[in-house]
Amino acid sequence: MKMNAAILWEPKTDWSVEEVELDPPKRGEVLVKLVGSGLCHSDEHLLTGDLVLPDETQKELGIQQLPVIGGHEGAGEIVEVGPEVSGLAVGDHVVFGFIPSCGRCPSCATGHQNLCDLGQFLFAGRQISDMTARHHARGEDLGLMCLLGTFGEYTVTNEASCIKIDDDIPLDKAALVGCGVTTGWGSAVYAAEVQPGESVVVIGCGGVGMNAVQGAAMAGARHVVAVDPVEFKREQAQVFGATHSAPSIEEANALVSDLTWGAMANKAIITVGVGAGELIQPALGLVGKGGRVVHTSIAPFSVDSVSMNLFELSMWEKQLVGAIFGSANPRRDIPRLLRLYQEGQLKLDELVTRTYPLKEINEGYQAMRDGTNVRGMVIYEHATA
Ligand SMILES: [Zn+2]
Ligand SMILES: [Zn+2]
Repeated sequence: MKMNAAILWEPKTDWSVEEVELDPPKRGEVLVKLVGSGLCHSDEHLLTGDLVLPDETQKELGIQQLPVIGGHEGAGEIVEVGPEVSGLAVGDHVVFGFIPSCGRCPSCATGHQNLCDLGQFLFAGRQISDMTARHHARGEDLGLMCLLGTFGEYTVTNEASCIKIDDDIPLDKAALVGCGVTTGWGSAVYAAEVQPGESVVVIGCGGVGMNAVQGAAMAGARHVVAVDPVEFKREQAQVFGATHSAPSIEEANALVSDLTWGAMANKAIITVGVGAGELIQPALGLVGKGGRVVHTSIAPFSVDSVSMNLFELSMWEKQLVGAIFGSANPRRDIPRLLRLYQEGQLKLDELVTRTYPLKEINEGYQAMRDGTNVRGMVIYEHATA
């Protein structure tokens, strides 16, 4: 079949919206008609080249990342199932998990679906089943961001990437839980293990950070300090439960010191747009004895140097931990978060600042760069017709 999708042909160029030829689903795969796709910062990392592996590494791994259909935060309805699909049927509503979860590998079996062994194929850009492409344009095979490619009206993906949800949940809102919401919320609730009465600092309040604020507040934090240079985002953070805000880490440091009578925060969560080694020590400086810093941001593939005070690390038993997908289990947490949304405890509607038709996707990303969107979203025409 033919459909429209946004393709990145070369780093540092715009998304190109054009016609794509889509093959039917093969073994273990489903064809999904999408309702919407979040404009997540991780796709911007493809565009800037931060998420594109060096050529030698791609050759070593036998993969070719570009051209690629972007997008990994989506939801839709299954319109066709391939052979040997066991858990999904035509008509099912699904949210995509940006990391597939097989349910059987050692990580999945021990409650760490975010670390599923199928994650090794995340950058392969081809179908997990046979490492071939279902999407083609201009006579070339296309890769898929996170095995999904949600910047297309339809996609074919493995059932491991699909999480069935109840039919009465609006799919455009459900899409957000496939990446940003769960990543942020889980960074606070699971990776940081925020406890009632703790002081928490969230550094960077975009689509992920706003949900770290929301998670920390839901977990019962006494202080939730939102740090962002953009005033609009500091204001928005209050909607999601921030008790205080600061435009910089430096100003947050003074504020937290005041709030805690010098004891400093229990947890700090780094959710800035692009991770950087220079942020680690200032973040560690925000937490006190026994404090924990969670690093959720994606840094360029090449960043391997960090400056931090090792004396403080051991003497004050500080912790620095990484987190992917908020250390969550998508098959449990995505339905769980959507239930909290339905019952009015989790805010999703407030996250979407603006929606765009697919052809205006580049405007959506420009708004993200300008800091005027918490989350922009593409809504497909067939969903509004
Ligand atoms: Zn994302
Ligand atoms: Zn697994």
